[in-house]
Amino acid sequence: MNNLQTYKTYPYTFYQWIWKLVDWIYPPSCGGCGKFGVRWCLDCQQSLAKISDPICPSCGVPTSNSVCPTCGDQPLALDGLRAYAGYAGALRNAIHRLKYQRDVALGETLSYFLVELYYRVEWRVDIIVPVPLGVVRRRERGYNQAALIAYPLSLAVHVPYDAKALSRIRETSSQVDLGLSERLENVKNAFVADSARVNGRTILIVDDVTTTGATMNACAVALKKAGARYVYGFVVAKTILSKGGKNDRAS
Ligand SMILES: [Zn+2]
Ligand SMILES: [Zn+2]
Repeated sequence: MNNLQTYKTYPYTFYQWIWKLVDWIYPPSCGGCGKFGVRWCLDCQQSLAKISDPICPSCGVPTSNSVCPTCGDQPLALDGLRAYAGYAGALRNAIHRLKYQRDVALGETLSYFLVELYYRVEWRVDIIVPVPLGVVRRRERGYNQAALIAYPLSLAVHVPYDAKALSRIRETSSQVDLGLSERLENVKNAFVADSARVNGRTILIVDDVTTTGATMNACAVALKKAGARYVYGFVVAKTILSKGGKNDRAS
């Protein structure tokens, strides 16, 4: 009788149970190593290169300075960017499977990492927004992997989710083969935000992976142009380009 109400009260639990049911019907294999029976195994968890202090308070890269040299030269429009772990090994495999092999259940698995991150930072957030895909990419893939991570995060930390706050108005090419200046140009003015949804609010944008934060930063520029008060960013994984050195601000 009151099942529906219970679900409304505990949407996150309900969401988790849906995936547990899916796993029961279609037994999963580990997103990191392929081991049968779990979506993410202990060995893969222990293999993660978690990013820990000391980090740059702005972009979140490991650094011995208080602010990293890149942020010193080119401050981010983001008020803070944090990544859970380095983009390598098991985590890289899991993100690939989520993105390119339609292993959509991994979105919920990866969202746990961001829940942990959320309770570590002390940011007061009004809405959680996934970094949007362009219409063409979205149609090709059938889903936005960032949304599959951002939605369970929003349920877990009780912050409203709004996928309509930000749109990608220009299709951008893959950043992989682009040089620094091309990457910056590639994402420039690619996003637009809805001021009715973001004006005066603090936004947390979520993506699967970043190299140096240029995409996240382009989102922050659009959100601030539409009146957002503060914009923070979370990614599951970050490519660590050099230890203690300078990171180019390119993707
Ligand atoms: Zn594994
Ligand atoms: Zn920095």
